[in-house]
Amino acid sequence: MTTNIFGGCACGGVRYAVSGKLRDIIACHCEQCRRTSGHFVAATACRREHFTLLQQSSLQWYSAVPGYRRGFCNVCGASLFFEETGGPRVSIAAGSLDAPQGLHIAAHIYTAEAGDYYAIEPGVPSSSGGAHNVALPE
Ligand SMILES: [Zn+2]
Ligand SMILES: [Zn+2]
Repeated sequence: MTTNIFGGCACGGVRYAVSGKLRDIIACHCEQCRRTSGHFVAATACRREHFTLLQQSSLQWYSAVPGYRRGFCNVCGASLFFEETGGPRVSIAAGSLDAPQGLHIAAHIYTAEAGDYYAIEPGVPSSSGGAHNVALPE
């Protein structure tokens, strides 16, 4: 099954397409996600071979940890992507999708680093560290 899914940043300088299935959403509360998003990051993901950048004139990458990088728009400031450099997966900020995709938050991770001004939703698996059981679809 090939579904064409589209998304991008607020100004249109970065646009992407996904031809394949998206993973359910993982909410990451780690300090890097807090500082770069201003809150926490809710990200879906897809296999790299299903991901295509359609427009990347304002896409910039930032590496806080060697081997990993975050993609953001250097015009409108949108936080968009996270990946292990050359890894099999691209994480995509769920809020950048053009249309609802029927996804839901399946795990909260790094809750030990969460801000103290909100509650982690009950009934969803959570981890104080990075462990989760949310599979990346084929
Ligand atoms: Zn932009
Ligand atoms: Zn994080």
